[in-house]
Amino acid sequence: MLVVKVGGSAGIDLDAVCTDAASLWNEGQQMVLVHGGSARTNQVAEQLGHPPQFVTSVSGYTSRRTDRETLTIFEMVYCGEVNKGIVERLQAAGANAVGLSGLDGRLLEGRRKDAIKIVRKGRRMVLRDDLTGTVDTVNVELLRLLLDHGYLPVVTPPAISVDNLAINVDGDRAAARIAAALGAEQLIILSNVPGLLRDYPDESSLIPRIEAARVEEAMAHAEGRMRIKVLGAAEAIADGVGSVTFADGRVEQPIRTALAGRGTVIA
Ligand code: ADP
Repeated sequence: MLVVKVGGSAGIDLDAVCTDAASLWNEGQQMVLVHGGSARTNQVAEQLGHPPQFVTSVSGYTSRRTDRETLTIFEMVYCGEVNKGIVERLQAAGANAVGLSGLDGRLLEGRRKDAIKIVRKGRRMVLRDDLTGTVDTVNVELLRLLLDHGYLPVVTPPAISVDNLAINVDGDRAAARIAAALGAEQLIILSNVPGLLRDYPDESSLIPRIEAARVEEAMAHAEGRMRIKVLGAAEAIADGVGSVTFADGRVEQPIRTALAGRGTVIA
């Protein structure tokens, strides 16, 4: 079982990802695809006159400020344009894909953060109305139902909270949870960089391999959004996923390239 997370950053080649995924699928590789959509959400939010805002937690993680209007825009882009665009590409490439959000069938269930401690302009603040949270459980039965009948699941945030609110959750950490719940051998996280870089943005400084026990040290190299990815990878390994690869989503055959060991392998 393979879980592939494809990011939503500019530069990622969704056509190449989907062609590669479908051909692996047709060779019998069982797979779940998880995707993001952050760059497109930012564009649409601007166009709709509700520009994106980001907050930084006291522990140094950056996340999207998600009020109700942002959540609606988020769903339009993630569950609409991006999810259906991926399903369309996979269908064209011969894989019978089914798109699902974490809300559908309570696929991704978690908790809403009722208070987020953030730092704004050097001052600590508490946000109480944010619709963000974390994934605690995955409806594996639903995924298996699809997989066992030949469907390729394409999963996107939001998740559903235990008290039935849609919540914005991090796609990388959701993918990590899915990989762990399915007992996947490998989780591949495709982004618009070749992997974890020692000196971002110098692409020649790629770190090829990190021992799982030393993932905390790797955190020192990660900035911004990459921090959450490293955290997700550490969680996946701790939950029994064999290996996590950060790989380039801008190349031809990005999944096969990652399977061949390119990128940053955490094992
Ligand atoms: P996606 O939307 O594909 O999930 P993100 O934008 O969330 O991707 O995260 C990938 C980004 O992390 C890169 O585009 C890069 O700007 C940033 N980044 C920060 N530090 C590093 C690093 N050390 N190595 C690689 N990328 C990094």
